[in-house]
Amino acid sequence: MSKSYGVIVVGGGHAGAEAAAASARMGVSTLLITTSIHHIALMPCNPAIGGPGKGHVVREIDALGGLMGRIADLSAIHIKKVNTGKGPAVQTLRVQTDRECYSHLVREELEAMDHLDIYQGEVGEILFHSGQIDGVRTISGSTFHSHRIVIAAGTFLNGVIKVGELSYPAGRQGEFPSVQLAGTLREMGLSLLRLNTCTPPRLDRATIDTSAMDLQQSDTEPLCFSFVHSGRVCSGSVIYITRTTPQTCDIIRKNLHRSPLLQCLSDSSPVRECPSLEDKVHRFPQRENHLVFLEPEGSHSREVYAQGIFTSLPEEVQWKIVRSIPGLERAHIVRPAYGIEYDIISPTILTHTLECRTIPGLYFAGQINGTSGYEEAAGQGIIAGINAALALRGEPPFLLKREESYIAVMIDDLVTRGVSEPYRLRTGKVEHRLVVRHGNADVRLTAKGYAVGTVDSKQYQDTVIKRETIQQEIDRLSHTLVSPSPQLNLLLQKAGGEPIRNPEFLARLLSRPRVTYRDLANFDLNRPYLTPNIIEEVETEITYAGYIERQRRAIQSMSRLENKRFPPDFDFSSVKGLSSEAKDRLSEVHPRTLGQASRVRGVTPADMAVLSVLIETHNRQKKADP
Ligand SMILES: Cc1cc2nc3c(=O)[nH]c(=O)nc-3n(C[C@H](O)[C@H](O)[C@H](O)COP(=O)(O)OP(=O)(O)OC[C@H]3O[C@@H](n4cnc5c(N)ncnc54)[C@H](O)[C@@H]3O)c2cc1C
Repeated sequence: MSKSYGVIVVGGGHAGAEAAAASARMGVSTLLITTSIHHIALMPCNPAIGGPGKGHVVREIDALGGLMGRIADLSAIHIKKVNTGKGPAVQTLRVQTDRECYSHLVREELEAMDHLDIYQGEVGEILFHSGQIDGVRTISGSTFHSHRIVIAAGTFLNGVIKVGELSYPAGRQGEFPSVQLAGTLREMGLSLLRLNTCTPPRLDRATIDTSAMDLQQSDTEPLCFSFVHSGRVCSGSVIYITRTTPQTCDIIRKNLHRSPLLQCLSDSSPVRECPSLEDKVHRFPQRENHLVFLEPEGSHSREVYAQGIFTSLPEEVQWKIVRSIPGLERAHIVRPAYGIEYDIISPTILTHTLECRTIPGLYFAGQINGTSGYEEAAGQGIIAGINAALALRGEPPFLLKREESYIAVMIDDLVTRGVSEPYRLRTGKVEHRLVVRHGNADVRLTAKGYAVGTVDSKQYQDTVIKRETIQQEIDRLSHTLVSPSPQLNLLLQKAGGEPIRNPEFLARLLSRPRVTYRDLANFDLNRPYLTPNIIEEVETEITYAGYIERQRRAIQSMSRLENKRFPPDFDFSSVKGLSSEAKDRLSEVHPRTLGQASRVRGVTPADMAVLSVLIETHNRQKKADP
């Protein structure tokens, strides 16, 4: 068996699904090879999508024509706006999905796509001749040819499951690891690093006593991730909240020596992202009370995900931990927790297109690059898929800037700073949060997706209309005067502000704290009908205009550094005046611009001064002698 494709994607997780869908949508013949077609877009951990930072990524994937936002909406059983007590920059959505339904809908959509074939098999070998990628061979001997390959193998490379003293090879619970592929990557000269993570136990809902637990209902306002959907209300599914007890912490303390994950970590820095419960108990001994969220796995399942009890402790200890928690005294564990250790590539070998610098045509996306999370994986997948397809067509790469996207921040962090623990995207990692809100992801990115062919013309036209409508409404409010009246002044005083004595522009009233667009309806009789998404954007743009303007100015001044580019073959190791550490790190990462160089670990202000002078001199010489 031997067939040729424009792009081959290895691995049908969240990264692989988005990569394959993007490439196929761009009209490139694409093959998705994955070890089990029943596990396409499987959620091996939390049955949820979104949350701070991650929800922004979902909106960006949707704005670029990807799958995740739409499928999350269709499989949602509980949806909430999060961070509502904070500013609009960090507000986003979090959806509890029906795990099986999500996976099923992604598979259905991929199967229905033009230009996309799916093949069940395990890739063991990457074909590589005369310095060029030539395809893949499965362990059962089938060969598929392509000069562009995206590897999205998740936690499968040399995966080993660890539960207490027990340890065995696995890619995930119940699945084989990818051993041959890891060997092939090593033979190609790539060095692999080792990371680990763990997942909590799943409990039988019928054995949980929720009577004394706090609960989180789905929001009553219609909501959705996708810009092409209308919001809907989910009802029926509830998240219950309980807490660990001093007894839980005692059980864990007595068994700390039996935690394989803690043993791996003991010499290294603490895990900040998704730490295990034993790690939390070990590092914060004074805290006896850790929150546990009981999240439903789906409408047709009794399984409940015990968010917060991430552990790699032995199963017998897991039972004791679970039963020491209020409401779980009689709980039955359906699937025990486990830890997994796996190989990743070092993302500093990648360019911003996610292509390997030393092996053109080979792209990497998802957890294999050191990230953790479905959204992070999917965000990389769509970028790798687009770039593999563009490279095949001989077109310029698709690059997003840090100031225009969360996905860009993640990729820049990965390729510039590398990873020492699973990388998670959080709002705190993004410098210009007010400019890259979840509500304006379409305005920021949809035209770019349309230009490369991942977004259809309907979605693009809708975004153009949305952008114009927002601007028209801001202009209208900025030019519409409203006269003082007792009702209006009562409203302003209730909001904690001063009454007005002279006519005032509606936009100025809206920019006051605690005055909303809806509040002003009775004093603004000519307002057009607008959707809740547009109203949210108008309110934010007006209320935070000063802050947004300040961020835009900061972006402009930063872009001076981002526009100073090093020549492509610049030899950092020979630069006089740089520290040895800076020489090593810069040679490893090979930054494109002075801005990126400033974010490389170990590069000091003194190193930056040297590089800055050097780049100026280079540019002057280039101008004089083009
Ligand atoms: C135990 C565990 C704990 C986790 N804990 C968390 C957590 O706490 N927080 C969090 O956000 N995320 C967590 N996750 C991670 C989350 O599941 C992943 O980040 C996300 O699924 C990664 O997506 P991906 O597409 O990169 O890889 P995956 O979803 O792992 O998909 C990889 C795909 O590649 C296929 N594959 C592998 N090798 C080959 C091959 N050689 N040939 C063909 N196909 C291949 C596999 O079958 C699989 O379909 C956890 C995952 C696991 C397994």
